[in-house]
Amino acid sequence: MEKLLRLTAGWLIDGTGSPPKRDMLVCVENATIVSVTSACRGEPGPREPSGADLSRCTVLPGLVDCHVHLAMSGTDDARIRNRQLCLPYHEAVPLIRERLLAHLACGIVAVRDGGDGAAHSLRYRIEHLPCPDLPVALKSPGTAWHSPGRYGKLIGRAPREGVSLAECITTRREAADHVKLVNSGLNSLHEFGRETPPQFGREELAGAVAAARRGGLKTMVHANGKIPVRLAVEAGCDSIEHGFFMGFENLERMADRQTFWVPTAFTMKAFAEQALSGSREAEISRRNLDHQLEQLRRARELGVPVASGTDAGGPGIHHGKALAEELKLFMEAGFSIQDAIRCAALNGARLLGIESVVGEVKAGRAATFLVVPGPPDALPGSLRHAERVYVLGTRVK
Ligand SMILES: [Zn+2]
Repeated sequence: MEKLLRLTAGWLIDGTGSPPKRDMLVCVENATIVSVTSACRGEPGPREPSGADLSRCTVLPGLVDCHVHLAMSGTDDARIRNRQLCLPYHEAVPLIRERLLAHLACGIVAVRDGGDGAAHSLRYRIEHLPCPDLPVALKSPGTAWHSPGRYGKLIGRAPREGVSLAECITTRREAADHVKLVNSGLNSLHEFGRETPPQFGREELAGAVAAARRGGLKTMVHANGKIPVRLAVEAGCDSIEHGFFMGFENLERMADRQTFWVPTAFTMKAFAEQALSGSREAEISRRNLDHQLEQLRRARELGVPVASGTDAGGPGIHHGKALAEELKLFMEAGFSIQDAIRCAALNGARLLGIESVVGEVKAGRAATFLVVPGPPDALPGSLRHAERVYVLGTRVK
């Protein structure tokens, strides 16, 4: 039997980047949007059989968080943070499920994991998804790869001596959805703009990206600073994660090559909020954030494809809720709400390769969208109170 759905929305952000439209009728047949048309103002529009009135709500595409760590909680409790690093898989399973549900509650229908040391998120995806009562798409690299003795142990492993990055990727790429590389350290919270050296050389990175591509996988690279980012972009990676202090020249490079950028700006705001007020850490985190927003402003002008990711699972970065915070920062950097939603929907979907499932609210596209209370002005904060979530035509919240 055909499943029909007709929703009259007070406002629609279709995800193409065009401004919000008033009073729109969205018609869905089975899993597909068949039409999006103007609903007559003042007249009672065709309603859902349930009679729900969405005239005070905004409809927008389902969202994607392009950088999460499902094996970790956003807690700032050091004891829990330490313990979660060595949690056995069976204890991680209910926590990962809980975190995926937290994403769904905020309208996030797909997440891309940045890795965990035990590859729990990948095992979870293999053993538990897809799942009818948890309709969130998960893409996971398993573990990330870092250079021996350098940053990255919490989320990955280093190649054994004498084994190249490309060989590691080739032998372990079967089950993974993408490859995650770590090519710099973390940002200093004590010294503004301190750059760490790259973890891998140009050749090794290029070999790794090529090995991933031979297996049909994209490569996401953790990189901060001018040189680590430049090497990763020149090696042909698909996305730069974080990219603090990469500089405008790298943004130009990324615009030319259409390399995605996932700026995770909220990480610095979270650090600033947790640090003792007036402390050096609070001041440097705040300056790091301001610098990142300056880069984000420039990325928008240059046409760098920006996708939103939060690094949820980091201290103070809570699964689901953090995406609204990240999008607020995009708007501080000059993005309109429709631009910000495009980054969080279509751009994220393109980066994950799931445009057939989510991206835009347009005729012919998949019926994956959300209903949030209030007008577009209430976004992105209203994402935290998403009233309904539809995935492929089925209401899942
Ligand atoms: Zn991360």
